[in-house]
Amino acid sequence: MSTDEIAIDIPLIDHHCHGVVPQDLNLKRFEALMSESYKLPPEGTSQFDKPLGLVVRRFCAPMLDLEPFCSGEEYVERRRALGHEEVNRRLLTACGLESLLVDTGHRSDAIADVPMMNDLSGRPAHEVVRIEAVAEQVARTGVSAADFPQAFTDELAARAKTAVGLKTIVAYRVTFDIDQTPPTKAEIARGTDRWFSSNMAAGKVRLGDVDVVRHGIWAGGELCRDLGLPLQIHVGFGDPDIYMHACDPTHFTDYLRAMEDWKVNCTLLHNYPFQREAAWLAEIFQNVYYDVGVILNFSGPQSATILGEALEMGPFTKQLYSSDAFGLAELYYLGQLLFRRALKQHLDRWIADDMCNVAEADRIIAMIATQNSRRIYPLG
Ligand SMILES: [Zn+2]
Repeated sequence: MSTDEIAIDIPLIDHHCHGVVPQDLNLKRFEALMSESYKLPPEGTSQFDKPLGLVVRRFCAPMLDLEPFCSGEEYVERRRALGHEEVNRRLLTACGLESLLVDTGHRSDAIADVPMMNDLSGRPAHEVVRIEAVAEQVARTGVSAADFPQAFTDELAARAKTAVGLKTIVAYRVTFDIDQTPPTKAEIARGTDRWFSSNMAAGKVRLGDVDVVRHGIWAGGELCRDLGLPLQIHVGFGDPDIYMHACDPTHFTDYLRAMEDWKVNCTLLHNYPFQREAAWLAEIFQNVYYDVGVILNFSGPQSATILGEALEMGPFTKQLYSSDAFGLAELYYLGQLLFRRALKQHLDRWIADDMCNVAEADRIIAMIATQNSRRIYPLG
């Protein structure tokens, strides 16, 4: 390493992640967790033959005492031989994390909870509460449609008391291309009736009614304002129940502006393929923050290209680190590794081009790695 190169070995705050699966996984279940798709890959093909699969075999295999680029079958076999607890601990404790902010709102019965993540990682883990998941939990209690709106806001307020932030998946459920004004009481009542009569009758509670979702984001926004919490907003890349073109965060400008008036910080998560739009929103709105979590894993060897776009114009004071790992400890490990490598690659080039020096690079790293998250989340 020349003296003009930098090292990125400081601890990171992973501001958006999920629990790992506390069970041994067979090849099929491991591959299912390597994809956001609900479907298996076509017969005769493997999830290991894509950018994420390549970096799992390159970087995670040695963590399990295997040669780099072993086969997917060998990898999963070794993982089972070591046992889930050993694998989860090995990978999580090797991440160099300062703390974890865990979203507990997705398939929480199948993954480790916040205390278990604290134990496995050896680092403080904090909870982020997902607004739509709380709405669905309240709906499942058998509450009447008439009582739902108040019961939901009461429960959300109770859950927010011990959380470090709230999260909305409005983009998944109804896209960003919606009426972003606060719903009237009549709209909320009609929306709840529609939701309860259609879905509940079919035995489903999945919230997909636009007016109830609007109620959620405004009730959540109000709580964030009153408690000084940030609001995480899912953007772009994710599950297949998404209309990607309508999940461009610039569609959500009116709501972001309203939250700016309320001094509520909004953290745009993932963002791919809208990382440039997210960086632009962070540049013009005082309250907008962003990351490129999850996609660094999924783009593997190309991850520096995406981080490079996120660095094009976004303020260094507005970018955050996240892995968005779900289920597999490998995604935690690769998230931080690919982030560190990509950021180093860009900052080394900036230094070589005489756009930056080591002291400035260290300041930029500290802001993105921890300082920005510490400033906006109540991490004590
Ligand atoms: Zn997530």
